[in-house]
Amino acid sequence: MPKTRIAIIGGGCAGLSAAIALSKQGWSVSLYEAGSELGGRARSIAFTNVSGSTYLDNGQHILIGAYKSTLQLLNTLGISEKQAFLRLPFSVRMQGPGRCLLSLNTVPYLPAPLAMPLGLLACQGLSFRERMAGISMMARMAFKGYRLDHDLPLASFLQGQNQSAKAIQLLWEPISLAALNTPIQAASTQVFLNVLKDTMASSAWFSLKNNSDFLLAKQDLSKLIGSPASAYLRQHGVRIKLKQRITSISKSDLGYRLNGVEEAAVYSHVVLATAPHNASQLMVGHSELHAECMALDSLEYQPIVTVYLQYPTHTKLRLPMIGLTNGLGQWVFDRGQLCQQHGLLAVVISGTGSHQTLSQAQLAEAVTAQLKQAFPELSSPLWHKVIAEKRATYACTPDLTRPPQQTALPNFYLAGDYCYADYPATIEGAVRSGLICAELIQASQKVG
Ligand SMILES: Cc1cc2nc3c(=O)[nH]c(=O)nc-3n(C[C@H](O)[C@H](O)[C@H](O)COP(=O)(O)OP(=O)(O)OC[C@H]3O[C@@H](n4cnc5c(N)ncnc54)[C@H](O)[C@@H]3O)c2cc1C
Repeated sequence: MPKTRIAIIGGGCAGLSAAIALSKQGWSVSLYEAGSELGGRARSIAFTNVSGSTYLDNGQHILIGAYKSTLQLLNTLGISEKQAFLRLPFSVRMQGPGRCLLSLNTVPYLPAPLAMPLGLLACQGLSFRERMAGISMMARMAFKGYRLDHDLPLASFLQGQNQSAKAIQLLWEPISLAALNTPIQAASTQVFLNVLKDTMASSAWFSLKNNSDFLLAKQDLSKLIGSPASAYLRQHGVRIKLKQRITSISKSDLGYRLNGVEEAAVYSHVVLATAPHNASQLMVGHSELHAECMALDSLEYQPIVTVYLQYPTHTKLRLPMIGLTNGLGQWVFDRGQLCQQHGLLAVVISGTGSHQTLSQAQLAEAVTAQLKQAFPELSSPLWHKVIAEKRATYACTPDLTRPPQQTALPNFYLAGDYCYADYPATIEGAVRSGLICAELIQASQKVG
């Protein structure tokens, strides 16, 4: 084997976190990215029209206070949480014909395990019986350590827990869609509970920060992740190779050769950090990766559509993030309050649904009408832009086989949101999987 030379394939959050950790450990690292910039699915896109140029995120990303590894990673890149995010107490505020407000900020400074029952108790829009059913369910799950004997679709679980149709529609479904990006009829209850568990994990009394807090980016995603990561990695000697799509990986006694790129180098270690559908294509021909390949090929995917609507710049919603009922849009974000993009509203539609049959113009029209119903004071939008990510995340269904980072192929590791088994497809899952790869490589080198 040659001396340790590590190739990371894929410059999304997983590949970046692996690269940052491995470069900190002093290894020789090369990062290959098919796109023209880093960040993967968490990136911004330049958008120009007659009104000028701006950056739009490929999708609105919400982080939560429990995403410790992501916050730590950003800190390493020199980005403070305060500079990067608006931290808001967990709140599900649904606006539309059916209204609901669950806020965990009813009594400030309470740790999340107490704030949740109190928040549910004070939840507006649900009857007393519905609120008590929610509290009982949360208490039962906390008692069981948020573990199920058998995973099942979330909708069936909620019905079994006596949650009314209204509570499911106005409360649990929006939370689940935001967290798992999978319709509740198909979503894994166990993964939902994993997220709830971390969200509800105890934080200190009188703390201003809770694991359940929402963290909404105050800058576009490329400024938050891709650009600072690129600067950090170059400073730390990582060779970043953009617009380099690996077409296959061959193995010999010398190590791993990456094919399809300009420079034919050989590496002792590979971290395959692409999205799952790309990863399985690069595993072909390696019989040791057969099980992983099968697991990835069986994954299904869920889309996320973001409808950007530019209103006059004085337009401002009551809050930066509001849930929507009775229509295609599920959440609306006020980019003026977040990223100084005044008058720009981003409406998110997660998962499959009837909206997939509409053209972009029809979608923009339907969402505009929905917003007008929820916020009658809105005027007409000046322009719109629809960004559809067809394979935004894998469908997070019950009992999904999630390959671990370590594979049977020597010195060959997997990183990506699909690998971190406890979480749905999230930035945090991707970051943690990259960190695990770095730890495994470090540990194997000590043993060696
Ligand atoms: C619209 C949208 C909204 C989302 N909302 C949230 C949210 O609110 N909160 C949250 O936590 N997460 C959210 N996510 C999910 C989150 O973005 C992903 O889970 C995370 O970014 C995945 O990171 P990754 O590194 O695993 O994969 P990716 O980001 O997909 O990175 C893989 C990289 O590999 C590159 N690549 C692929 N093939 C090759 C090849 N052959 N050679 C070289 N490079 C290759 C790709 O170009 C890409 O840059 C959202 C995703 C989308 C799309």
